[in-house]
Amino acid sequence: MSKSKAKELSKKNAKRINVRTPAIMERVQAEVEKHYSSQIVEKLHKGDGRLSIGNTTVRLAKQFGFCYGVERAIDLAYAARRVFTGKNIYLIGEIIHNPEVNRQLRQMEIKNIGGGSPDARISELGEDDVVIVPAFGAELSLMDQLESQGCLMVDTTCGDVMSVWKRVRKYAKEGHTSIIHGKADHEETRATASRALSGGGQYLVVLTLEDCDYLCDYIRNGGDCRDFLARFEGAHSRGFDPDVHLQKIGVANQTTMLKGETEELQRRIAAAVADRDKPGVDGGESGSRFQFFDTICGATQERQDALFEMLKEPMEMLLVVGGYNSSNTTHLVEIGGKQVPSFFIRDADCLKSLEQIMHFDLTEGSELSGYSGSIMNLEKTITVGVTAGASCPNNLIEDVISRVFELRGHSREEILGSG
Ligand code: SF4
Repeated sequence: MSKSKAKELSKKNAKRINVRTPAIMERVQAEVEKHYSSQIVEKLHKGDGRLSIGNTTVRLAKQFGFCYGVERAIDLAYAARRVFTGKNIYLIGEIIHNPEVNRQLRQMEIKNIGGGSPDARISELGEDDVVIVPAFGAELSLMDQLESQGCLMVDTTCGDVMSVWKRVRKYAKEGHTSIIHGKADHEETRATASRALSGGGQYLVVLTLEDCDYLCDYIRNGGDCRDFLARFEGAHSRGFDPDVHLQKIGVANQTTMLKGETEELQRRIAAAVADRDKPGVDGGESGSRFQFFDTICGATQERQDALFEMLKEPMEMLLVVGGYNSSNTTHLVEIGGKQVPSFFIRDADCLKSLEQIMHFDLTEGSELSGYSGSIMNLEKTITVGVTAGASCPNNLIEDVISRVFELRGHSREEILGSG
C-alpha cells in the first residue's frame, strides 16, 4: 500500500467519539456553571444592564463574554475529561484565550502539547491518547499527524472558523491567493493559512492598513520583490512570489477582527485590483480576479455593536475584561479607547485602588500600571462601563463589577440587594 493511501486509511480510522451524551452533559453543565457563572452578571443582563448604588453606576454592554463557540469548546473539553477518565488528555495550546479557563482545564489534569514547554512530544502520542483541538482550530499538518498516529480527537473548532476554511479552500481551488486579514502568529490565522495551501494555493497575511496600502501599491505598480517578502516575512506561504501570486486575489479574515477595518481593507484591495485590471487592459476583468468574503463571526460583531451602543451614553471610564492575547477583546479596547479612558484588564486584581489600574497597554504590548487619575474619586458621581471579550467567563466580570463597587465603599450584599 502506498504511503499516502496508508495515511488516508489511518485518517479514516481516526477515532472521533461523541462525548456530548445527555448524561455527560448534565454533569458538565453543572460543573461549567459552578466554575464560570455569576449571579450579579445574570441580574444585570436580565435587567437593563445598569446597576447604581449611591453615586456609582456600572453599565454592562448588552453582549459580552462567552460566545457560542467558546461555550461549546469548554463543554467539549469538560465532557472529554468525564468520558476518558483514565486516559491522558492533551490540549493543543490554549482552548481559548483566557488564563482562568486554561487554569481550570489544567486543574482537571488536561495537559498541553503546545507552547514552549509541552507536557509530551507530539510524535510520541498514540491510540491511547486523547487530543483536544481548540476553538480556533489547528494547522492541517498537525491534525493529519495526530490522526495518522491514531489519537482520539475531540475537535472543538468553532463552526465560524470552519466557514473561513471553506472559503479559502474555494479560493485555492479557483486559483486565487488568499489574503487573510489577521495576525500571522494567531492560532486561528495559522490554521486558516494551512487550509489556503490546499491544492497548491498561496496565502498572504495582512494585519494593518499600512501593510494593506503597501500591498495595494505593489498590486498597482509592482515593486521590489525582495522588499515585499522582507516586509511580510513570516506572513506568507512558502514560494510566494508577489509578481505571480497577486494576479488573482480572494480576501478573508480572522473571525475576530474589527469590522470597520476589515471592510476598509477589502475596499482598498478591491480598488487596487480594479485599477490594475482596467477593462481592456491585458483582458483584465477585476471581477473575476478579486473576491472577498466577510468572515467576521456573529459573536465578535455583536460585542462590537453592543459596545458602540453603550458608548452612545456618557461614561467616565470603560473596563474591558479578557485575556491579553485575545484578539476580539483587543478590538473592544480599541473601540472604547477612541471615546473614553479605557483599561484592558485581566481580572479584578488589576483594580488596585481608586487611582491605580494595572492594564494591558496595546501600544507597549505589555501590562502597565496605569492611573485613572481622579476619575474614580469618591466625591464624584461616576458611570463605569464594563464589557468583556468572547473568551471571558461571567465570574471574572462579576469580580470586576464587585471590585468597582468595593473601591467605592459598597459591599457585594449591597449589590445583590440593589435594584
Ligand atoms: S469568537 Fe467567533 S469564531 Fe471565535 S469561538 Fe466565538 S463564535 Fe467562534
